[in-house]
Amino acid sequence: MSSSNQKITPFHGGLHLDGHKQVSTQTPIASIPVPQYLHIPVPHNSEVTATVGEHVLRGQALTTSSNSMTPAIHASSSGTVRAIEMHAVVNRSGQLLDCISIETDGNDKSIEPLAALKPSADNKQECLDRLRECGIVGLGGAGFPTAIKVATDKSIDTLIINAVECEPYITCDDMLMQEQASRVINGAETLASIVSAKEVLIGIEDNKPEAIKAMQAAASNAERGKIVIVPTIYPSGGEKQLIQLLTGKEVPSGGLPADLGVVCVNTATATASYDALHQGLALTERIITVTGAGVKKPGNYLTRLGTPISKLLDFAETDHKVYQQLRMGGPLMGIPVKDTSSPVVKITNCILAEAAQPQHAEQPCIRCGDCVRVCPAKLLPQQLYWFTRATEFEKAEDHGLFDCIECGCCDYVCPSNIPLVDYYRHAKFEANNIKSERIRSDRARIRFEQREQRLERKAEEKAALRAAKLKKLKEREEAKAAQQEGTQDNKQDEIAAALARVKAKKEKTND
Ligand code: SF4
Ligand code: SF4
Repeated sequence: MSSSNQKITPFHGGLHLDGHKQVSTQTPIASIPVPQYLHIPVPHNSEVTATVGEHVLRGQALTTSSNSMTPAIHASSSGTVRAIEMHAVVNRSGQLLDCISIETDGNDKSIEPLAALKPSADNKQECLDRLRECGIVGLGGAGFPTAIKVATDKSIDTLIINAVECEPYITCDDMLMQEQASRVINGAETLASIVSAKEVLIGIEDNKPEAIKAMQAAASNAERGKIVIVPTIYPSGGEKQLIQLLTGKEVPSGGLPADLGVVCVNTATATASYDALHQGLALTERIITVTGAGVKKPGNYLTRLGTPISKLLDFAETDHKVYQQLRMGGPLMGIPVKDTSSPVVKITNCILAEAAQPQHAEQPCIRCGDCVRVCPAKLLPQQLYWFTRATEFEKAEDHGLFDCIECGCCDYVCPSNIPLVDYYRHAKFEANNIKSERIRSDRARIRFEQREQRLERKAEEKAALRAAKLKKLKEREEAKAAQQEGTQDNKQDEIAAALARVKAKKEKTND
């Protein structure tokens, strides 16, 4: 089914931005050659099962986890594990992470695919296990495990496929839909079967006419799958914003889409889920947009996970003298790339080479209210900023700090050039620390109180035992005394009897 007459409910705020998308959609998706070395970061809560010197095949799991929902990571080509050590990765903290480094052997041999599964509500647990086993996470940039997202036991009316891709420059989902629309529809159908969704809405921004055409054609024979064209406004690809656009429902603060009977999944995630369930394939590659200043061959590249970013830049013939900084992701939400030996990971949707920007110094807030007007989460960004500056993180939390989606709209419009999102990230970090500290001290207090109660109980038990012993002793002594008294009385009786007998005898003799 394909239709675009779905009612659209606009969300508050947002920005109309220049998309810069055409530049990377002029050529078909190309494949980056498998590099000599792959560096695959080890996720938290995971235990590495691969060993240095071991020969591994593409699709082979390299980690395991006691947490049943932590997705596995896999070798993305065949080769030998050369090291398991700290390596540069793209993250905001700039910290190195444990990575498994594989020297590829050029054969690109894979393990046997897992058996195909026919997803339904009846084999839901098997499907969730498969998604985790194949390492499926949100490929839109969040990296949230898909198995957790679809594990909900709430009744789901609507599965939303987030094909909006609203941030400027990024076009990997656009090209995926243009070239492989039926895979996207199959993926949507697969996930809809797992969550038993009654309808599937596929939201696409109106700046992607080719993708819309391809998706409408692919959806025409699908059982479920309605293409909904949404206006191009940033950040309509935010989960809460898209849900509001397509269903008119607002996810409440602290709530989940599933509470409204909705599950929302990114386009590439849907196709990866299809591959995992129907083809038995682990996630070992993804499409990445490489674009921006100095990129001579901007486009979309199918890249093995673990490939160093430098290889992508080289393949796209990037002039390193032209750009000022690299970013993983888009210009508003992307993370700066400090080291191009860092590998591409599951959430790498774009490598953006940014031209030099005029730098403006941060100025005091003039309370213009522009940030409030554009905030899609209906927050008071300047208020959050003041609370953060005053280190009143709990107040910031009370004012919806954790509802901030870090979209950067407020930063973008602020005439005082205040890096507001940096402040909010700091505030979230501190608020989380306070929460953890509170949990830790609550636990310590409970432990102390329990220990005190235990000691008190033990002291009471001891005192009771001592009292019982004393009582027993006293009773024993009393009994002994009584017995002695009895013996004394007997003796006196015996003496009296003997004296009586003597007296009687004497009297008899005198007679
Ligand atoms: S946009 Fe900037 S200057 Fe204006 S109120 Fe918000 S924080 Fe203050
Ligand atoms: S970054 Fe946060 S506060 Fe700023 S506009 Fe986006 S949601 Fe609102």
